[in-house]
Amino acid sequence: MNQRTQHELPTYLNPDDLGPWGIYLEQVERVTPYLGKLGKWVETLKRPKRILTVDVPVELDNGTIAHFEGYRVQHNMARGPGKGGVRYHHDVTLSEVMALSAWMSVKCAAVDVPFGGAKGGIRINPRNYSQKELERVTRRYISEISMIIGPDQDIPAPDVNTNGQTMAWMMDTYAMKTGRLATGVVTGKPISLGGSLGRVEATGRGCFTVGVEAAREIGLDLVGARVVVQGCGNVGGIAALLFHQAGAKVIAMQDHTGSIYAENGLDVPAILQLNQSSPRRFLADSNLGEIISLDEFWDLESDILIPAALENQITASNADRLRTKIVIEGANGPTTPEADDILASKGVIVIPDVIANAGGVTVSYFEWAQNVSGYFWEEDVINARLAKIMCDAYQATAAVAQQHNVTLRTAAFICACSRILEAQELRGLYP
Ligand code: NAD
Repeated sequence: MNQRTQHELPTYLNPDDLGPWGIYLEQVERVTPYLGKLGKWVETLKRPKRILTVDVPVELDNGTIAHFEGYRVQHNMARGPGKGGVRYHHDVTLSEVMALSAWMSVKCAAVDVPFGGAKGGIRINPRNYSQKELERVTRRYISEISMIIGPDQDIPAPDVNTNGQTMAWMMDTYAMKTGRLATGVVTGKPISLGGSLGRVEATGRGCFTVGVEAAREIGLDLVGARVVVQGCGNVGGIAALLFHQAGAKVIAMQDHTGSIYAENGLDVPAILQLNQSSPRRFLADSNLGEIISLDEFWDLESDILIPAALENQITASNADRLRTKIVIEGANGPTTPEADDILASKGVIVIPDVIANAGGVTVSYFEWAQNVSGYFWEEDVINARLAKIMCDAYQATAAVAQQHNVTLRTAAFICACSRILEAQELRGLYP
């Protein structure tokens, strides 16, 4: 190692098991040769700007005290305030939050919204706690990280197991601590507290928009196109509905209970209704299609496949079997790097997560802009602006992919990392 450049790994990570942060570092390695003179700054991307680990002590309903570990990681803020969700999950690790914060930097830069990347997490299984306990956890966590968040510093949002109610508690706690109501401190708020119209549907809508662009590029007619969707939630459900409304046949959908199939297309609105049912119902007991196995699901022939549930779904073990033309990554990290290479060799277009699911952060940006200006936009204005940002990002990425003969993922990273590092270079180093 060069003793004067000090590029060793951060000491807080186990060098033998970097976890998700290791995958992110590999992705940065892949784009480094394309960064030209900006490559001088690439080390900036390999270490988060700021990491805060906090103890979150709360009194439980039974009077005992519980302690949870919480994190807020600000990866890079050269282009704007940090932006990224807060995840409540018992398996959340610092490595995961670091990687997610870095992917937020890349995502915001890839679609060119003026934010940096950040992410937060608390190691907790929320299902084991009451609403009142979760409220205390949320308020104490925000209180602990309040010195580094703010509408022009770092803006949290919902992620796994957090929602509009969580954001309302976060906003209120920040307001109580600072003595001023700054609704722009978090996004994903309920509409009545300054949330934005169109936010709930934004990610699925963004997936649909880039899917339309990719289909046009390969001359695929959406009317009658065969679409397969993993996940019936916020992202997968809305994306499926929009393809269905555009005349495509959504022939299979999958949730955590199983997969259903209909050769002539599923009744997508009826599937979305399952989420509203009480008690909530899922695909396996819905009678809305023929039940198929997991293997059959991945073997289906389709034009468009949308993984919109979990990470690591398309791997070296099933990528070879996929018979599809376009993969739209609704979920974060659904395709492993090995599977990426297999799909590229088969000529499958993979629209990477940092573009495909960026609709959510784009409308979060709109929410923040509405909050700081105090002027709220109509839903059709929001959807039109979202469509423009998504189309522009897709086209710019596709042009770079063609120029360098690389995948859309590498192209998106080239565009995003160049933007971040250009901002970094212009700002220079302080002091
Ligand atoms: P959600 O909770 O609304 O829906 C998740 C869906 O995945 C559900 O239908 C669930 O049944 C299904 N699922 C869970 N486990 C599964 C399994 N083992 N096999 C098959 N299906 C399974 O979540 P969401 O908001 O739609 O998020 C989905 C993905 O999109 C996540 O990776 C999330 O990080 C990513 N994402 C979401 C947004 C957003 O705005 N909601 C933005 C960017 C990325």
